[in-house]
Amino acid sequence: MGGTPTDPIARVAVFSTGTVRMHPEHVGPTRKPTPVWLLTSRRWTEPRPINVFVVEHRDGLVLFDTGQDPASVTDPDYFPGRANKLVNARMAKIHLDPSDTVEANLARLGYRIADVGTAVLSHLHPDHVGGLPVLRHANIVVSRSEWDTLQVPRPQMRGIYRSHIDMPGLTWKLITPEPLGDPDLAPFHEGYDLFDDGSVVLLSTPGHTPGSLSMLVRRTDRAPLLLVGDLTYDARLLAAGQPSGLCDKRVTRSVMEKVNALRYTWPDMAVLPAHDPGSASRLAAAVA
Ligand SMILES: [Zn+2]
Repeated sequence: MGGTPTDPIARVAVFSTGTVRMHPEHVGPTRKPTPVWLLTSRRWTEPRPINVFVVEHRDGLVLFDTGQDPASVTDPDYFPGRANKLVNARMAKIHLDPSDTVEANLARLGYRIADVGTAVLSHLHPDHVGGLPVLRHANIVVSRSEWDTLQVPRPQMRGIYRSHIDMPGLTWKLITPEPLGDPDLAPFHEGYDLFDDGSVVLLSTPGHTPGSLSMLVRRTDRAPLLLVGDLTYDARLLAAGQPSGLCDKRVTRSVMEKVNALRYTWPDMAVLPAHDPGSASRLAAAVA
């Protein structure tokens, strides 16, 4: 899309770094406890995207999430330890082609990896941090509360692998929500305004993980876009207030209620999850 001269957002695009097949119970809704479906489900969804969103702001190029690392399918020791390998194999079937890297996808959109100034991580799971090895020149933004989950005993039990995250040479920026004073964002009263102009605002949307962030992109005279990471795997389930099979359901329900309340201000807001097969076409319609 081309922004109007006054619109700080020049373009918003999405690409997928491979595909993931999940258990339908993982997408949800399900009444089964996570260990039950994780160990017993024999069903898998069709391949779903592992999305990375690209926001070209006049002050810099921003990624929201960084996708899956190709090494996760080529390096047998990417997930250290036999138990972790087994859990990951039960959790998801990942497929990546050589053309699925962040660099190759950016090149198809006309950007170089060096153009990326900031990468915001919705959370620290492997399918969202996979581009970090090629982003040592960029600022990496994550919520402080998500970063703090690295300190819990055995974070890999929560799908968080320090070796893929806390790598040498990365420039981290740990953010905490601040009062925004923007009534349009109610019932969100706090957030993090990335460019200090209200066009890209990070909102705290925990539930999938304790420190998960969403990114609200506001364009002049256009419906806003809400990139929600893994708050849901399907925008229709979020609209219905139905949590996925892998989250804190109580927290997720209350966050979904807040997100859905943003529609009082913006009935046309496009909700764009990381693994929703409908995200790419919904974005295409929103920027047409
Ligand atoms: Zn994910």
